[in-house]
Amino acid sequence: MTGSFRAEVPNHFNLPRRIQRLGELAYNLWWTWEKDTQRMFASIDRDLWERTYHNPVQFLRQVKRTRLNAVTHDRHFLETYDDVMEAFDNYMAADDTWFIQNHPDLINSPIAYFSTEFGLHETLPIYAGGLGVLSGDHIKEASDLGMPLVAIGFIYTHGYFSQHITEDGWQEARYVQLHFDELPVAPILDAEDKPVTISVELPGREVQARLWEIHVGRVPLYLLDTNVDGNSEADRQLTARLYSSDLDLRISQELILGVGGVRALRVMGYNPSVWHMNEGHSAFLALERAREMVAGGATFEEAIERVKKNDVFTTHTPVPAGNDEFPTWLMDKYFSTKWTELGLDREEFMDIARRQLSWGETFSMPVLALKLSDQRNGVSELHGEVAREMWNFLWPDRKTEDVPIDHITNGVHTGTWLARRMRNLFSEYLEVGWREHLDDPNVWEKIVDIPDNELWDVRRHLKRKLVAYLIERTRNQWLCEGVHPVQVVASGALLDPYALTIGFARRFATYKRANLVLRDFDRLLNLVNDPHRPVQIIFAGKAHPADEPGKLLIQDVYRKVKQAESGGRLVFVEDYDMNLARYLVQGVDVWLNTPRRPNEASGTSGQKAALNGALNFSVLDGWWREGYNGRNGWAIGADEDYDDHNRQDAEDGLSLYKILEDEIIPLYYGNRTPDGVPSDWCERVKECIRTLAPRFSMRRMVKEYVENLYIPAINNAAAKTAEE
Ligand SMILES: *Cc1c(COP(=O)(O)O)cnc(C)c1O
Repeated sequence: MTGSFRAEVPNHFNLPRRIQRLGELAYNLWWTWEKDTQRMFASIDRDLWERTYHNPVQFLRQVKRTRLNAVTHDRHFLETYDDVMEAFDNYMAADDTWFIQNHPDLINSPIAYFSTEFGLHETLPIYAGGLGVLSGDHIKEASDLGMPLVAIGFIYTHGYFSQHITEDGWQEARYVQLHFDELPVAPILDAEDKPVTISVELPGREVQARLWEIHVGRVPLYLLDTNVDGNSEADRQLTARLYSSDLDLRISQELILGVGGVRALRVMGYNPSVWHMNEGHSAFLALERAREMVAGGATFEEAIERVKKNDVFTTHTPVPAGNDEFPTWLMDKYFSTKWTELGLDREEFMDIARRQLSWGETFSMPVLALKLSDQRNGVSELHGEVAREMWNFLWPDRKTEDVPIDHITNGVHTGTWLARRMRNLFSEYLEVGWREHLDDPNVWEKIVDIPDNELWDVRRHLKRKLVAYLIERTRNQWLCEGVHPVQVVASGALLDPYALTIGFARRFATYKRANLVLRDFDRLLNLVNDPHRPVQIIFAGKAHPADEPGKLLIQDVYRKVKQAESGGRLVFVEDYDMNLARYLVQGVDVWLNTPRRPNEASGTSGQKAALNGALNFSVLDGWWREGYNGRNGWAIGADEDYDDHNRQDAEDGLSLYKILEDEIIPLYYGNRTPDGVPSDWCERVKECIRTLAPRFSMRRMVKEYVENLYIPAINNAAAKTAEE
């Protein structure tokens, strides 16, 4: 980083001296995955901690001085404080991280990681779903491993929407204005305390973007924001929201991310050795890098050859229609002054990423990314196969299996998603230091030593916590929002903490088939309302505001949920976010996933559930096709794809009911010890954690990115330089 620019962490808390460093902690998201730190904040004032939605910046600004004074005289609190601060200092100063031990020569070779969304914590609504949570988990793990990674994204002034469901099941989107001074983000300022900005040329004007920084443990995340003086009113709104369907807005955002992101890194003094595009939205970065080289005297061909060497591209989209493509007429508008800077004419420029689609000729962001990076991957084994087939046309003389797109299966960040009580249980039975070896299957062998009753105690505790939380949310809605009584029932007021509980929570895209389990509604109601062996299902998820079929799907589910016949045992919880996700993946017994194969590139929520001992019950798509071993959960349908959607839905539906009736319900309610512990169920839970926790950890995943993508990229670039 250049000396003159700095992230100015506001010091606007008036904290007692003895606990002054709470202010510093608040501004490093390390607390989002250190559960003891969150508990420490909460212990100062539990109600306020909930009211501020677990945001320590807002919390410390609002907490009463009397509460702060009280804890400075509380020996127990001070002990915790000193322990937490020591752990934080040790973490930040560690010089024996995995990366330093394994790649000491590369510690000064920054890896730049670009993503449109980062899911780090519920107080920062700058993510929409799985892609964002994956990016957030990726950079947290990069911090844990001590990698020299720097991340680039957007801070959206309105964030992603919060979801409200009307009595008739229609999704309404509410946007709130984020107040950056109440969030753990720090402005980047120059020597004169002025915001540091970069600029990007858009048709007829230069748009400025300022920079903010979030400290994610040891990793800096720089966020771009066009809401600055000097920009037109419309341009100030360019980074207001995620994923607009307006093409001008979208291409402008992607130019700011790709081109502006490169410039932001330059301004901050970085010269990255690897450029990772997480999905194609940031692919313009490759053109900006090429432009820099052409400006330095290279030809476009030479520039491309160099750029490719250390660009890395991860694709997440298994359906052609889901990819980001811009009509060429739109490209004319945005690039007609730019291709000359690359030394190209229009046709040569369009050729870089031209793709003929049924509706016209486009410039395709994934094609751009695939052609301008030598390291490419999908996010599960099956998705790798699908991607090779889908992009085979870019390598017409190769057989499908030789298309150069590899795969690295997704994982989840253990510290973020593992419940504290479950972590404590693991600490009792796994080796000391197990958290340093999360991806080592041997470490997890000892799971079998956990006594069933202790495991069951924690599982039941987590389910009670989930149910209590949902009832409390429902009570607040009833109290404050004047909802219709039927919505009180539909939100979970009648949930039972002892019934077999199934969770289905994810984005409501139609391919995820949220209503597959409702297909034969009478058959389902029979199971749900069995007085001796009741089953309850908790649904949650947002549809993109422009996705009408997705919103209709929510409505279909909601209308069934709210029927009296479902007995309050079918529930739809509004406003799925990382907070609700944590409660659900930790608290339910079974995690249901019913994508229409092979559309689920990987999926990660089931991995979070598995880590906490919730059993997956899922179509053999994405990660579950690799994780399922016959004993650690259940598979819906067969290991095959169908051309006929109706047949696929019918067969998967039948398979789902059969397994639920013949296997899941009997296993849960049957064979109980005198203390009521279901031994066979517990055995399956242990098999689930033992086999899945190490393999689908973010630790395993990020190490694979380092070894299989980042290091080859660095070596290829070095070889290329040597050759020149
Ligand atoms: C993990 C997570 C996702 C991804 O879920 P999938 O079911 O794997 O698509 C989406 N949203 C939130 C809030 C999550 O925590």
